[in-house]
Amino acid sequence: MLIVMQSQATTEQVKEVVHRIESMGLDAHPMPGSTRTAIGITGNTAAIDPSRLTGLAGVREMIRVTKPFKLASREMQVDDSRVAIGPVTVEPKSFVVIAGPCSVESEEIMLQTAEFLLDSGVSLLRAGAFKPRTSPYSFQGLEHEGLRRLESTRNATGVCIVTEVMEPEQVDAVAASADVVQIGTRNMQNFPLLKRVGKCGKPVLLKRGMSATLEEWLMAAEYILAGGNKDVILCERGVRTFANHTRNTLDLSVVPCVKDQSHLPVLVDPSHGTGRRDFVIPMALASLAAGADGIMVEIHPDPEQAVSDGAQTMNFDQFTRMMQSLRQIAAPLGRTIC
Ligand code: PEP
Ligand code: MN
Repeated sequence: MLIVMQSQATTEQVKEVVHRIESMGLDAHPMPGSTRTAIGITGNTAAIDPSRLTGLAGVREMIRVTKPFKLASREMQVDDSRVAIGPVTVEPKSFVVIAGPCSVESEEIMLQTAEFLLDSGVSLLRAGAFKPRTSPYSFQGLEHEGLRRLESTRNATGVCIVTEVMEPEQVDAVAASADVVQIGTRNMQNFPLLKRVGKCGKPVLLKRGMSATLEEWLMAAEYILAGGNKDVILCERGVRTFANHTRNTLDLSVVPCVKDQSHLPVLVDPSHGTGRRDFVIPMALASLAAGADGIMVEIHPDPEQAVSDGAQTMNFDQFTRMMQSLRQIAAPLGRTIC
């Protein structure tokens, strides 16, 4: 359910409604909007008696949220969510770029990549310290040493760090080293992990499960939001289909569907979405045109030597060309690359 307050409702009136909701054993989620405050209600297993709330001062109406996801739904919050990451804000009109190697590499490579990104006007560096690998014999990531290298790269350059967490027990360590905590496709329905990052105090980049419907994806986001973390960013990274001409099928049509059903920002990962570095630029441009809030791509100074995902990893020249093309098409679309 959603309580919509009158536009002139006072802070005291909002507090009073929150208090009444909580006294009914339910959770209240106040959401200040551009024109009025709304208060989401979760935690009810049976219908709520509207008369206990609609009579309170400042209340305009009570609306039933029809979607199974509540806090993630556009019904609950009309305005697009904004998520701040260091100097960058994921918000309408901007288009954020996150880039870096698939895995944390040597200190020299991390530093070189961070400095290159900052020179390119990009301040968000990605790299996995904990890697979910299909084969137990593949490189598993540098784990805690990887986190240490990410921290030293940030300390040396000021770049912000996006890195993956795979287990609830790792969340404190990863959140301490990261500016954004990433949940990978294989963990989209790891519910203990979703609950834990709901309390981690850092923005969460939630990748779409490789066979997840939009509803399942938004229900996964709901776990994080219900835990009290409002800073959820979705990331489409391709899904499994019969098609095998690319590593995954990058589902760009999900972007406008996300925008229709949810206020959460959505990025696209054309590296994992295609699996081939020469397909990344066209799909990055298409992501911008489709209305995504940004992209996450894999880059490396020498992709052939990358410890993982080299085939889909762009070199620095390709990244520079991608940024030039993105800037060219961003302006007529009313977007700014950041
Ligand atoms: C990644 O971004 O490093 C990654 C492992 O991606 P995904 O979870 O989408 O496979
Ligand atoms: Mn990768």
